[in-house]
Amino acid sequence: MSAEPVTAIDENDDRSAQCWCCGSIDAPARMLQLGDHPEVRLCLQCAHFVHHRAWEIEDEGKHGPVAAARGQFRNLRTEVMRLGWHQNRFIGGKLRWLGKCLP
Ligand SMILES: [Zn+2]
Repeated sequence: MSAEPVTAIDENDDRSAQCWCCGSIDAPARMLQLGDHPEVRLCLQCAHFVHHRAWEIEDEGKHGPVAAARGQFRNLRTEVMRLGWHQNRFIGGKLRWLGKCLP
């Protein structure tokens, strides 16, 4: 049994694809596909978000010092974003880069 590649469905004529989460357009090579549903593509930004969210859900039942530290980093990230520091032209780029490295 051979199946047609489902990934071609969401590719545009210009060989770009749309993120199923935020709707952004990018090259298919720069997007992630879900294992059993290759037609579903996520841009890198949404993939990072999903990764952080999965880690957050895993930590909900944990009470150790490492989980608590990750929770503090998350709270700090939320506060930085609330204040808009991540969009500051001087430190915004560094904060966004740091945010990708932290839980
Ligand atoms: Zn996206």
